[in-house]
Amino acid sequence: MYEFRELAKDVYAFLQPPLVWYSNAGVIVGDKDVIVVDSLANAAMTKNLLSEIRRVTDKPIRFLINTHSHADHVYTNHLFPEATVITTHSGREQTKANLELQGEHSASYAKFFPEFDFSGGRYTVQDMCFRGTFSLYQGAREVRVIELGAGHSESDVVVYLPSEKIAFCGDVFLKGMPPLPLEGHVSQTIAHYKLLESFEAEVYVPGHGEAGTLAHVRVQREQLERQFERARECFQKGMSYDEALRAFAGDVIPLEFQRVVILASYCEFTGRHPETKDPASQSHMSLIQSVADELRVLLGTKEVDKKVAMSR
Ligand SMILES: [Zn+2]
Repeated sequence: MYEFRELAKDVYAFLQPPLVWYSNAGVIVGDKDVIVVDSLANAAMTKNLLSEIRRVTDKPIRFLINTHSHADHVYTNHLFPEATVITTHSGREQTKANLELQGEHSASYAKFFPEFDFSGGRYTVQDMCFRGTFSLYQGAREVRVIELGAGHSESDVVVYLPSEKIAFCGDVFLKGMPPLPLEGHVSQTIAHYKLLESFEAEVYVPGHGEAGTLAHVRVQREQLERQFERARECFQKGMSYDEALRAFAGDVIPLEFQRVVILASYCEFTGRHPETKDPASQSHMSLIQSVADELRVLLGTKEVDKKVAMSR
């Protein structure tokens, strides 16, 4: 069951239970209007979000900000018909490309995540885009919208409320899951974490999972740095990607939670996807599916925090 949690006066997080593939949203209620951060994966979840919003306000939803172009964050943009939907130029291009491949994407979601409900969802291209940083003001409240660039996706955005010290991080920060630099940009992802840390925010709302603190963000960044350095050592010793995978196997942290970082590190070192015989490393979808499978096992045994060491 979801939770619509008031984080500060008129600022809410729509949080999902820790089932990996359902994403969170943010709601910021101003004097005249409402800003929503991210749409959701399916129509039923969005209906719940909209009814929670209507429980606390009848003001119009004027802006919907997409933190990135992955389906679970943009898939119900069309269910906010009054809102101007905003993302970066690059995020909009990515959404457009995804829309052109809608059929292929739908088929691969059905194949890799048969239990995941995408019904009533589809890609819709954003109305407005930006580069750099801009702020929306709701009276005295600043809602700062910051382009991070490539990291988790090809174009990530964080929404920060300086007076409430709340950051809506999209999937740059995931709680109970390791960072997923899916596009091969590990050093940029580390830089994004450092920016998040520089806010010294009270609350970090992740794209998935429970809300976190500065300490959670820091632990994840330090872990990511260690993994990146270790992958670099493997690379400098001349090890192939598959050999590096074997070197990481057997750690306290399951390989499924490290593979994305090792792969992204090798992509960053060489500028291309490494050759591999590892089936899980073939595509984004197989990578994410392997993370999901591991999480499912850990959630079943309630050992997520212990094993991933991400939630302390
Ligand atoms: Zn994502």
